[in-house]
Amino acid sequence: MNVIFVGRKSGRVKQFDLRHPVIMSAAALMVLGILGTAFSIGVGLGARHGHGNPLDQLGNWSTELLRQKAQLEDTKRVLQEKVNALAMRVGQMNANVIRLDALGKRLTRMANLDDGEFDFGHPPSIGGAENGADGQPAQIPSLTAMVDDLQSQLSSREQQLGVLENMILSRELNKQVYPEGRPVQEGWISSYFGRRADPFTGYSAMHKGLDFAGQEGSKISAVAAGIVTFAGERAGYGEMVEINHGNGLATRYCHNEKLLVKQGQLIRKGQDVALMGSTGHSTGPHLHFEVLKNGAQVDPLRFVGEDR
Ligand SMILES: [Zn+2]
Repeated sequence: MNVIFVGRKSGRVKQFDLRHPVIMSAAALMVLGILGTAFSIGVGLGARHGHGNPLDQLGNWSTELLRQKAQLEDTKRVLQEKVNALAMRVGQMNANVIRLDALGKRLTRMANLDDGEFDFGHPPSIGGAENGADGQPAQIPSLTAMVDDLQSQLSSREQQLGVLENMILSRELNKQVYPEGRPVQEGWISSYFGRRADPFTGYSAMHKGLDFAGQEGSKISAVAAGIVTFAGERAGYGEMVEINHGNGLATRYCHNEKLLVKQGQLIRKGQDVALMGSTGHSTGPHLHFEVLKNGAQVDPLRFVGEDR
């Protein structure tokens, strides 16, 4: 393409070829410059336009709000699941308290202990099972209160069961060391405690024990747990075993054929300690059984549990 200029004064004609490379480059640069300016102005305007419109801003905010609400719902749901799990645990703890109560009650009854000292019968003041039963989801503050309450209940039960255990153990121990029952399985009572005619002299004399007549070599057993304080021959008594049971009580098993225990030995209730014989001051195979209270012989009959 050619552009022709005509000089006003000179009348000369000037012709430019627009296809000339220099002209083309200049034109291209100019176009680029115009486009660039227009673009930057447009961007600036567009940006100012977006911030400036309140409707667009509201749209952005509500989108953000919805997103945060969804997030909050998620968090609430996760939290509620945890609270529900906690409520279940509290319910289980409560069931354990109830079981402990039942155990305490049963032990108290079995041991014939005074229930007055224990309050196992009192139901827990709160009910974990009730919460949620009416369809209400568990709440954190009430759960915290329940946990505190259960904790104090459990420690109270623990203390009471400890006391109960000690009472039962010491009673069991007392029962073990208390002389009770017959020292022989077979044999009959041939002589009671008290004044009688001496079988050797015929004179009236004090008989300080209970005699059981029986077969030679039959077993003689301890009537209570204790420790052997003497095992050997003693004048008149023959081969004798003496057992100390504590609480000032002791028992003696005399005229034995054979001793089965040694001095210092620990003896359990019912353990065989000797075989029946007729050693010492004796007219025939029998056991002379004595019960001593604070070192003095007492009537063994009430310990044996038989009537005259
Ligand atoms: Zn005797």
